[in-house]
Amino acid sequence: MKKSNLCALSLGVVLGINPLLASGPIAPFFEQDSGVDGASGLVRSNRLQAPLAANHRGHLVSTQFRLHGKYEDGRVINVKPNLDGNFIFPAGSDEELATSTYATVDYVFALQQQDLEYLVGQHPENVGIKAALAQWNEPKVGSRKMDAIWIDPQDRSNTNNAFYSRYLSPDRAIFYRDLNFFPFSTTGYSSHSFDIVAHETGHAVLDVLHPEYFSQSTVFNGAYHEAYGDITAFLSLMRQETMAKKIMTEMSQHDGPLDLRKVTYVHQMAENFGRVFGDTALRNLDKNVHVLKAGRNGRMSTEVHDLSGPISGAIFDATANVLNLFMRTQDFSATENAKKYKVVIDAGESMSRLLHLWGAQSKPTFTFEDMGKELSSLAVEHKAHTTSFGAFDVHKEIEAAFTVRGMMGAEAAGNMDVLANSRAFS
Ligand SMILES: [Zn+2]
Repeated sequence: MKKSNLCALSLGVVLGINPLLASGPIAPFFEQDSGVDGASGLVRSNRLQAPLAANHRGHLVSTQFRLHGKYEDGRVINVKPNLDGNFIFPAGSDEELATSTYATVDYVFALQQQDLEYLVGQHPENVGIKAALAQWNEPKVGSRKMDAIWIDPQDRSNTNNAFYSRYLSPDRAIFYRDLNFFPFSTTGYSSHSFDIVAHETGHAVLDVLHPEYFSQSTVFNGAYHEAYGDITAFLSLMRQETMAKKIMTEMSQHDGPLDLRKVTYVHQMAENFGRVFGDTALRNLDKNVHVLKAGRNGRMSTEVHDLSGPISGAIFDATANVLNLFMRTQDFSATENAKKYKVVIDAGESMSRLLHLWGAQSKPTFTFEDMGKELSSLAVEHKAHTTSFGAFDVHKEIEAAFTVRGMMGAEAAGNMDVLANSRAFS
């Protein structure tokens, strides 16, 4: 695949400029860990288990994704399972990186599939959700189909970056999609990070469900694309059983009430990428970023990564508050310790499904105020269908999180106008 095709059409969403994202590496649903990331304590796996591997016809290829770059057939490495059907490779090997990257993309996609199927089952009358699932199963942009996603875990054509891109095939018949991960200027690749891989996969997910947002025709849908990447990263992390157990254990080791915010790797994005620049992480979602002060030094910015902060922060805030409320006020103490971690999964799942419900009805153009109001009313409407959190006023937490960031309430309409009229990227 020629890189020359990339720029023209992906300029809108070169989702991966420096302030991208990444963090402690882990690959989902694996039993054996091959390495532990020192700073974040997150595990990385070298194991893709047989039942999953069987879906991929013995190679890391499916109808939805395929590896490329140095992993293509006939090139340097063709990653194949061992005799037992598992993909198990030495830590740090090229094969392990490929397996971990591929499995993370596959995991994030599988979660969205589950959500959409669940929601169609719960709301058979909801035309928007049905259409979303149909589009998910056969992604198209207009009349053109989207080809499988080509994943390159070790692209050496750039550094300190990762991106998702979509562009027309040379004969203009279909859309190609790429997920590219580049080396850090220190050591390692951006694909070593669960956060980065999940973030870029989040772009791919949103591009299937809302291809019209890809062009960034408004400041809001461009920033939402970035926010959705970060949101996908932390919600997918919470929904992974091994990680949910780890998060619950760590919450209970801190003094005071159980609090999701105390487990830093949930809200810190791309710790390993941040370290390349001497920072703790590339982004931190546990911040109250006002929508007109999203730039550096608290200035206004409509740069997509900057302006993503108020939205990703608001969704993290609401998720953490609802989970914390549940843990502090329900008779949570009666729950067997071994089962407590499930509420972490429930919280991630509930918020992810609420976002899909919103996505199924959201318009090609919207403001963050629209988003807050619509999410809030959907949270009321679908209260009975959410999991353990049905008893809580999720909408109140959403309203509070959007209001404190200037995206709902008295000043919101004025703030939205200021942003909509400011197309200059800072
Ligand atoms: Zn991005």
